[in-house]
Amino acid sequence: MKIEKLLRENIKKMLPYSSARDEFKDDVTNMVFLDANENPFESGVNRYPDPQQKALKIELSKLKNVPANQILLGNGSDEVLDLIYRAFCEPKVDNVITLPPTYGMYKVLANLNNVEEREVFLTSCFQPKVKEILEAADKNTKILFLCSPNNPTGNSFSQEAVEVLLTTFKGLVVIDEAYIDFSSKKSWLERLDEFPNLIITQTLSKAYGLAGIRLGICYASPEIIAILNKIKPPYNVNELSQQRALKRLLVIKKVQEEIEALIEMRGKIIEKLKTLHFVEEVYPSDANFVLIKVDDAVKRYHQLLKKGIVIRNRTTQPLCENTLRITIGTKKENKAMCSVLNEL
Ligand SMILES: *Cc1c(COP(=O)(O)O)cnc(C)c1O
Repeated sequence: MKIEKLLRENIKKMLPYSSARDEFKDDVTNMVFLDANENPFESGVNRYPDPQQKALKIELSKLKNVPANQILLGNGSDEVLDLIYRAFCEPKVDNVITLPPTYGMYKVLANLNNVEEREVFLTSCFQPKVKEILEAADKNTKILFLCSPNNPTGNSFSQEAVEVLLTTFKGLVVIDEAYIDFSSKKSWLERLDEFPNLIITQTLSKAYGLAGIRLGICYASPEIIAILNKIKPPYNVNELSQQRALKRLLVIKKVQEEIEALIEMRGKIIEKLKTLHFVEEVYPSDANFVLIKVDDAVKRYHQLLKKGIVIRNRTTQPLCENTLRITIGTKKENKAMCSVLNEL
């Protein structure tokens, strides 16, 4: 597959913005920096951040076993997804395919970029309909979004289905792995080099506990990463976020412990939910949340709200009638939720 063929003409032709820090990037200490119109008085953040987030990428590279030139960082994965749209989708001409019920941002970004979004609903077991997806695609279909584990359903997509799509679909396949750390299934990261059209997004917002700093990660071929690098805002990941992310990656054992604790509590909550008379179905989860089907989602949602428990009502989503999405909290929070559920 030729990635260049999928690229928009204006992106092919454009020259990237060249920042002061791009033009002079030798890593020399004791230099006098008078090139970026910064305020010289030290405050810890008076200098522009590293546009390539090198220190952070070195750690991620070790952790994920992916070379730094196959990593792009963004202001949340939402920015990364937007960059992919802007690089490859010509407004009013190209289209993308999403598989509802799924993460809402794919559609929002399609609308924002004036790109047609084609929807192929998942099966009743929330798996991709491979044949229908391939039939929905035409020569202007640039991206297929696969969210696995999927939000809001919580399940992972069948490996066989994803593999067929990766080898047959004639555009980019974005696998959104925001919840991969909670999954029993393997990440597609280890097979990244097998598929030139594969883009994997991950985030520090969920398992890593850093939703507040906005740090999204994109893994792809060096060619795709170079394209996204060319169009990204030069200083898209701020200094404080870079520092905080690095600090977290250096205590990865603690992250792992939190993930394990959440997975264990997920199991307990699932068992508890199954015992409730108004719960009709508890869907399996590879994420840090559980989707359930209840007798009356609007009613149950408001009953919980009145008692101070906020969950997500997903009843308006396709295939999700009367469903609620519950995030796994701390032991104390889960206990509070369970005792309110007991009272209903
Ligand atoms: C939460 C979530 C994200 C996270 O996005 P950020 O912008 O990195 O916080 C991405 N994809 C899915 C499916 C999510 O549920």
